[in-house]
Amino acid sequence: MHTWAYFEKHFPMVIHALKRAGKAGTLAHAYLIVSTNSDYRVEFPKLLSCLAVCNDPAEDGTPCCKCENCTKVLEDLFPDFYTLAPTSKAREIVIGKDTSDKYSAVV
Ligand SMILES: [Zn+2]
Repeated sequence: MHTWAYFEKHFPMVIHALKRAGKAGTLAHAYLIVSTNSDYRVEFPKLLSCLAVCNDPAEDGTPCCKCENCTKVLEDLFPDFYTLAPTSKAREIVIGKDTSDKYSAVV
């Protein structure tokens, strides 16, 4: 799994802006993560969630990734963390009961 430091090294402007928002308490309620790298799409949302819920962030806002909240997020056990992703090549995310439901999105 890529670490927070990895993303900070490769995407410094994005990470800086997110850390600044985290420290200021102005993180958005949701973020759309777009990448051709499937590992990034799975790993970065978890780290971003750690930024929002970390109990022991560094002075610059970096999440510890070791506290109880971070651990729950990283292990998919945090109750308010949801990831939506396409389940087929149709790239459609079905939120309702079936594809005829009006609450679906194509990414
Ligand atoms: Zn933490």
